[in-house]
Amino acid sequence: MSKEIAAMPNKFSPASDASLAIFERLESEVRGYIRSFPALFDRGVGSTLIDAHDREYLDFFAGSGALNYGHNNPAFKQPLLDYIEREGIVHGLDLATSAKKAFIEAFERYILKPRGLTYKLQFTGPTGTNAVEAALKLARLVTGMSNIISFTNSFHGVSAGSLAATGNKKYRSTTGYPLAHVTSLPYDGYLGPSVDTIDYFEKLLNDPSSGLDKPAAVILEVVQGEGGINPASFQWLQRLRDLTSRREILMIVDDIQAGVGRTGKFFSFEAADIVPDIVTLSKSLSAIGTPMSLVLLKPELDVWSPGAHSGTFRGNNLAFITARAALETYWADSKFEEEIARKSAILAEELKSIANDFRNLGLNVRGRGLMYGLVFQKHHSLPVQISREALRRGLVIETCGGRNEVLKFLAALTIAEADLRRGLSIVRDSIGAVQDSICHTGL
Ligand code: PLP
Repeated sequence: MSKEIAAMPNKFSPASDASLAIFERLESEVRGYIRSFPALFDRGVGSTLIDAHDREYLDFFAGSGALNYGHNNPAFKQPLLDYIEREGIVHGLDLATSAKKAFIEAFERYILKPRGLTYKLQFTGPTGTNAVEAALKLARLVTGMSNIISFTNSFHGVSAGSLAATGNKKYRSTTGYPLAHVTSLPYDGYLGPSVDTIDYFEKLLNDPSSGLDKPAAVILEVVQGEGGINPASFQWLQRLRDLTSRREILMIVDDIQAGVGRTGKFFSFEAADIVPDIVTLSKSLSAIGTPMSLVLLKPELDVWSPGAHSGTFRGNNLAFITARAALETYWADSKFEEEIARKSAILAEELKSIANDFRNLGLNVRGRGLMYGLVFQKHHSLPVQISREALRRGLVIETCGGRNEVLKFLAALTIAEADLRRGLSIVRDSIGAVQDSICHTGL
């Protein structure tokens, strides 16, 4: 951090919080976000985080996509409190419970039926990577083939199977053994705007000498989150769906980050008018931040034998309660989608204005819905500095991309428009402050 920034009046001073000492002393070096946002967070209300010293931060991070409906949304909090109060089942493996039944009914009524989808539901262990592991295993089980296609800059989790399909070296280099049975191909736009990478994929499939083993499935994010907010074009997605259908390759859409309204509709693939064979959901599905994951599979793919893919925590009934309440509150009609579209327009317009005002930094704006990135192509180190500066000004915002070159806008979908504008104004000021420091230090 530059001297200029360090000398600025600091209302928040989170980095000097002595109450974090125990984390440094006892928590493993593997800890991550605590380093980016060194504050002792205590409460969360809507889009506001409050630390143990009663300092408030506006949240443009939303639990990395797990809090699309904000913190402690009252629409889910009360049903949850009522359920606990009446001694509702908390842990249920995959037993039938009334909480689970009500969630499945709501999911069918508000999500599947209105979209004409006929998926069956598989509840997996509660984290996103559990759902991805199940999806990959199922694709291999159904087809009898092992190879999976994933795409450059993808992120699917950090357990063995999902990590093999994840691009970033930082995660891949941790295993101590080779990651296998996945072939990485260029995502939309990876080879520049003039190359349609589906042509390349098709050529590999057609060429008996390409070295590509016929894949069981492709796995992709419709808008890549951790990889830098890369939205695939609808045309590319449609071509991929067409190619995979023709060649009997399963299509898995990992909607763990881009799903549950993040890109404007419940599923990220809806706007492209495609139907994947398998879908993974997690993060904001439970609505209040409790862990829950789900795999959606076309009925003809349901080759599992009973109990063949188990997990002690497949039945987080507290999550079923809040997930159902969220579906009833937000997805019974199109009002929420319209609200997301309104805020998306504000976000996109303001980011373009920021990019224009800081033309000298060579900024690029990418995204869809309320999932946007401000890309610092020329100065890869700036987003981390801006994120730090924003924290000092009371805004929590993270970075993403292979080199952390993208400032990632992931506000709650329920954020008030005034808060969205306020956060964007903090970002603008933070970029200005960091830019001044570059001018002073000549970085
Ligand atoms: N898939 C995607 C697209 C993700 O963004 C993530 C997490 O960020 C995961 C999978 C893994 O989820 P989890 O961290 O809950 O294992």
